[in-house]
Amino acid sequence: MLVKCRICKNKIERNEAYKVVVKNKNQYYCNAEEYSDWNKENESRMKVIDFAFEVLGETTNTSLMKELQGIAKIHTYKKMINYLESDVENIVNAMDKHFEKEYAKIRYFTAIIKNSIGDFRDKIEETDEEFMVELDIVEEVKYTPTKKKSFSDLIDEY
Ligand SMILES: [Zn+2]
Repeated sequence: MLVKCRICKNKIERNEAYKVVVKNKNQYYCNAEEYSDWNKENESRMKVIDFAFEVLGETTNTSLMKELQGIAKIHTYKKMINYLESDVENIVNAMDKHFEKEYAKIRYFTAIIKNSIGDFRDKIEETDEEFMVELDIVEEVKYTPTKKKSFSDLIDEY
């Protein structure tokens, strides 16, 4: 029997799916890893919203959620909360001005995130081996000595 993954909507064999029981109902996911990543991202999402409410005041304005979701699609909520928490002071200072409308305030807040998150690098987690390996390769390439071309090499090329 096939069941549907609640995250990616893939159809999977029930006995191969990762099962979670919530309020006596079975929920199915492709695997434990997808479920745990999704939970972490959800947690980060709640933290981002809390942060936004701290800065903007609580709001039901749907443009806030839309803007945040748009940023998360590219950068993930995990990166967003890491960025926000690392830059609290600057953000609070930048937001310390008068806004005529709540919408303007929301746009200003999300523009700050958009402008900064691209350059923001998550601090390296020691457990993140995959990332470390990637970093090693980058370093290696960076420090490969490049042979300086001599005059005679240039002559040969032309
Ligand atoms: Zn899935």
